[in-house]
Amino acid sequence: MTVATFDQPTTTAQLTRQDRCDRCGAQAYVKATLPMGEGMELLFCGHHFRDHEAKLVAAGAAILDERHRIDEQPAERV
Ligand SMILES: [Zn+2]
Repeated sequence: MTVATFDQPTTTAQLTRQDRCDRCGAQAYVKATLPMGEGMELLFCGHHFRDHEAKLVAAGAAILDERHRIDEQPAERV
């Protein structure tokens, strides 16, 4: 019997303010982990994830979607 293994511990994998969209550099709210390339991770803002969502899903990527957090951004602490 095979059991699905998870490389990542089941912590609440949260994207942080340091995670940036690979395309435009905006804060990333979606992480896509591709099954090929040893789990290559791509980060997207909400806008660019929409652009690539169909292709990522078709490629079998695991999607961490935190776009619900876009509306609850904390005040900028710069
Ligand atoms: Zn972007």
